[in-house]
Amino acid sequence: MKEIIVSENSRRSFIARSAAAAVVAVPVVAALAGGEPAAAADPLPDYAPIPPSALGPALNAQGYYVGRIERNLYWVTDGTYQAAFLTTRDGVVLFDAPPTIGHNLQRAIDQIAAANGVTNKVTHLVYSHHHADHLGASSLFGRNVVRIGHAETKRLLRRDNDPARPAPDVTFEDRYTLRVGGQRVNLAWHGTNHTPDNVYIHFPDHDTLMLVDVALPGWVPIYNLNLSEDVAGFMAAPGTALSYPWKHYVAGHLGRLGTRDDVVLHQQYVADIAANVRTSLASVDPTPYFVKYGANTWAAVKTYLDAVTDLAAAPVIAKYTGVLAAADVFTASSTLTILESIRLDLGFGSQVHA
Ligand SMILES: [Zn+2]
Repeated sequence: MKEIIVSENSRRSFIARSAAAAVVAVPVVAALAGGEPAAAADPLPDYAPIPPSALGPALNAQGYYVGRIERNLYWVTDGTYQAAFLTTRDGVVLFDAPPTIGHNLQRAIDQIAAANGVTNKVTHLVYSHHHADHLGASSLFGRNVVRIGHAETKRLLRRDNDPARPAPDVTFEDRYTLRVGGQRVNLAWHGTNHTPDNVYIHFPDHDTLMLVDVALPGWVPIYNLNLSEDVAGFMAAPGTALSYPWKHYVAGHLGRLGTRDDVVLHQQYVADIAANVRTSLASVDPTPYFVKYGANTWAAVKTYLDAVTDLAAAPVIAKYTGVLAAADVFTASSTLTILESIRLDLGFGSQVHA
């Protein structure tokens, strides 16, 4: 009873405060008139529901899920990030160490090692690429772990000098086969994509490929095609991934493993955006934007390219809503990125002054 009174008081004081600001007072008054109070006052946008195919297995009480991929290869997720590990007779090889999973990495390893009667000691840590969101728990594994990564990963980590991410001890340029406890893993660099150093981690004896921050099973990429530094390289990466033999895909995100169909679907989504960008570039007339904004060239460029982006993105959002989660959230952002790559990398639509 007392709680209700308190909440009534704070409600009244909120309304009184709101009344001072007309912008806030309007929805509150509208809500009192019989609308839906919370929804009416909520300034945050609504998005389409995510399809069930976007979700992975339920997390345990500690906030992680660990599962077997094949035989002694496992994956662990917190629902947003993913790592993998291989148990061997000589130690555990860990692939990435996202800080959001953090201490749950060792808990997941302990759980599996105890169940299988094998060592839980992490002896090797393989880096997919230098980004902190995938490596920020690396230092938890101490100094005696052998860290393996691309030569460019080492250069970037030395530049960024983050104690949470010790630079790799073992580096490679194009290819490296890691052998631990009778197991083998093939690491390869096939050019820049999401970052200059992002590598393909192939488990030939486990039918698995790990390629982080490229195709995200069940989801569209986040901002700007997963914040990719090389858009053309990013767009080519799924084809390279599919050129390997594998059944299981560890994407680094989000809550489930991927299949070859997931990578093909991602490829189709990106191809659809690129095709629509080309037709939209050809169909939107830039003249009215430049006439309206006159000397403000950037205003003309922004409004023109935003119009092309929106025109290109709309059918893709319609096609993939209910198919890939968050198509309505991030497709416009990635469309602008592809639009700029088609203009600047490929030279599409460039005209040489007469
Ligand atoms: Zn990344």
